[in-house]
Amino acid sequence: MWRWDQGRLLYFRFDVLKSIAVVLAKFNGVSIANCEDSFRNALISETGMPFAPAHYTVLRNYKRVFECAFLATVADGRLIASDFCRELAKEDSEFTNADDYLLSYINRFRFPFPAFDGYDTTQERIFPFCAILKYLIALKQSGGQPSVALNDIFQIIIANHCTGLEDIHYYCSLTPKSYATNDTEKRQLREMVIFISQLSVLKVYNGQLWLDVTNQSALDELAYSFLIPINNAPKENRVEEFATLTKLSDGIVLPTLEVFASNTADIEFIEGKRKRAEHFRVDRSPLLRKYYRETNRQPICHMCQLNVALKYPWTDYMLDIHHLLPLSSSIAITTKGTSLQDIVGLCPTCHRSIHAYYAKWLRNNGQDDFRSRAEAMDVYLAAIKEIA
Ligand SMILES: [Zn+2]
Ligand SMILES: [Zn+2]
Repeated sequence: MWRWDQGRLLYFRFDVLKSIAVVLAKFNGVSIANCEDSFRNALISETGMPFAPAHYTVLRNYKRVFECAFLATVADGRLIASDFCRELAKEDSEFTNADDYLLSYINRFRFPFPAFDGYDTTQERIFPFCAILKYLIALKQSGGQPSVALNDIFQIIIANHCTGLEDIHYYCSLTPKSYATNDTEKRQLREMVIFISQLSVLKVYNGQLWLDVTNQSALDELAYSFLIPINNAPKENRVEEFATLTKLSDGIVLPTLEVFASNTADIEFIEGKRKRAEHFRVDRSPLLRKYYRETNRQPICHMCQLNVALKYPWTDYMLDIHHLLPLSSSIAITTKGTSLQDIVGLCPTCHRSIHAYYAKWLRNNGQDDFRSRAEAMDVYLAAIKEIA
């Protein structure tokens, strides 16, 4: 059975995981029972999440979150922070966004997983996220609609005993088989799917997980470098196995610029060791454009209120989709899936102008990127006020 965590999905948002990591790295090696209150308070103040209920220890309710997210485990009551945790906690982390983190995660997470009861190293190894992504790529390559519902995952991927180790073409020939599931398993799979949808090439919409990528080289890089499972023999000892799975000493493989970028010219800048294109991750999503159009029938610019269809009656919905979150973020997830609250439609002129405003603001403040969602939002609103 595929397993995960349940009911704490919002703790798995990349920005929250990053702030959890800061706290866990500080408490590394500490016996949590001796400092329960300060541990909980540090988590609450760093993340803004409740870590409730107060009458249970944090570890009782959140240990599985920490483990499933590859952040930390517990041995003899002591917190053991992982390499993933230490990397995420760094100010100049290599994991600058959800893609960086998840692309290092998806080919490592496997069953049997040491966080779960009945951990048994003799069970068949399954890389669930590799299997789901390979199936989506297979659908796209065979010309189908690259989306899966939960039932498809049960009946096609799980019922056919896919392990994630197979070649992509293997996934093209799968046919559904009946599979008896229960509510717990459904909820857990649903949360796995929403977690992984933080990858910028995935979106959850209308109960389906969609592969949202138009660029072939991006697809190739995903398929041939990030979906190759790291398949060493599992360790009998849970803590050793956890440490092995989350080890980053062999170096972190990061996507090249092209992975999730479009072919069109974006504003490029050099940040630290690598080149990055500004804002391509979400603004270029054809799927988000489709959703936005479905919920906003009239093409009205969010900044200048121009109805583009009235001004240019020969055009068809000439609005750009703009992402309100910090530049390096992917779209935020909610318990329902992809959030449409993070995007607005802008006329092409306003769109160019807001990115110019961002660039100027960041330069004036000596920053590479916005530090938070709230900061990005404030700057956006300030720009609207300054429109002449
Ligand atoms: Zn406008
Ligand atoms: Zn934009």
